[in-house]
Amino acid sequence: MNARSGDTGLVGGDAVGRRRLQRRVADFLRDTEGADRTAALGAQFDAGLAWVHHPEGAGGLGLAPDRQAEVDARLAAAGRLESWERNPMGIGMVAPALMAHGTPAQHELLRPIFTAEDLWCQLFSEPGAGSDIAGLATRAVRDGDEWVVDGQKTWTSLAHTARYGLALTRTDPDAPKHAGLTAFLIDMHAPGVDVRPLRDLTGGAHFNEVFLDGVRVGDNARIGGVGEGWKVATTMLMSERSVIGASVGERGSGAIALAVDTWRRTGSDPGRRTELTRLWVDAEVLRIAAVRDQATRAEGGPGPGGSGLKLRRALLERRIARFAVDLLGPAGLVYDADLVRAGGPAPDDPVWTWLQSQAYTIAGGTSDVMRTIIGERVLGLPKEPGPPRDTPWSQIPR
Ligand SMILES: Cc1cc2nc3c(=O)[nH]c(=O)nc-3n(C[C@H](O)[C@H](O)[C@H](O)COP(=O)(O)OP(=O)(O)OC[C@H]3O[C@@H](n4cnc5c(N)ncnc54)[C@H](O)[C@@H]3O)c2cc1C
Repeated sequence: MNARSGDTGLVGGDAVGRRRLQRRVADFLRDTEGADRTAALGAQFDAGLAWVHHPEGAGGLGLAPDRQAEVDARLAAAGRLESWERNPMGIGMVAPALMAHGTPAQHELLRPIFTAEDLWCQLFSEPGAGSDIAGLATRAVRDGDEWVVDGQKTWTSLAHTARYGLALTRTDPDAPKHAGLTAFLIDMHAPGVDVRPLRDLTGGAHFNEVFLDGVRVGDNARIGGVGEGWKVATTMLMSERSVIGASVGERGSGAIALAVDTWRRTGSDPGRRTELTRLWVDAEVLRIAAVRDQATRAEGGPGPGGSGLKLRRALLERRIARFAVDLLGPAGLVYDADLVRAGGPAPDDPVWTWLQSQAYTIAGGTSDVMRTIIGERVLGLPKEPGPPRDTPWSQIPR
């Protein structure tokens, strides 16, 4: 049976289809009232309400992606909408990649991703490959039914808590750089995986260096075809940018709420009110753009337009946080990194927010790279200069 024409009666976006979907959500809410969080998330997946655009059995109902918003609105109204941040890499990036490129057996991994029983990390960046991720050097060499992976990844968020990582590796150094890549699932507890924490400027240590030394993975851990890792990477990176851009929360929440609060706490300076209002309006415009992006997203997943949202969010968060720090005057020069080092919750502190806001301009692709993507893929401008795309990776100077 084709999941998109299934017998759920939910496929139509008309009034009847909407009512049926609402009833399904209501049944789920009633059946899981009082259930523990993991069980409730598992039941949500089994009811097809995790990712409604996935096929039945894979957390969905074969519906159009924009219908997830109907589900999420109902869950939010019931106080039962769980944040994707419970498993940011897994939900934000790995799940779309597994759905698009994984085998049916790999789709079994989706449920524990959604419930956050299996946390994931993204093993892409390397000391010599960040913006130019297709230039990476971590090797995977075939050995019978297995592959042996050697290399170093860096800036790997949450590698210290992750059960699995999705690694991009080079399997053919003599192919052009985009063509010689293959994606693998890495068991982060396997022999040869060494995770070492890196501290960022806030004092936190949420990302790591990951050394892969002779790590053996089965061929059934390959995600997508040999040499087709770039397709997997593109799905993940587009999803990441879209998630970063679109995760703007409720009206007036997040960094702008902190700025408004700081303005009040510091004496409601009328001279700064116009500036604050402008920031508030910009935040609201971004929020509405993100909501529209979710609703109009093409069925094949996020496109390069997500880079625009990601860029705008990164720049705006930094402006808002900078405004709040300025309001503090000399107190804005004081920052207690020990609070964060001690592993406590991030302080509700404009200085922390400002320091942290720098990360959004780098993680998931820098603002410069976002501008290049928008220029080339949205506006159709000429490509930036570089070696011809068919140059073998092994012949590109590094
Ligand atoms: C908080 C945080 C979390 C992260 N988490 C992960 C993770 O979980 N997994 C992972 O794989 N990676 C992760 N990263 C890494 C991130 O993807 C890279 O840092 C990013 O892609 C930039 O790469 P780079 O650091 O090597 O900088 P580089 O690529 O060396 O860039 C240095 C500077 O040069 C500029 N530049 C580079 N190329 C161009 C160009 N073609 N045109 C114009 N300017 C250019 C950049 O904009 C930047 O200003 C994380 C980074 C941060 C900050």
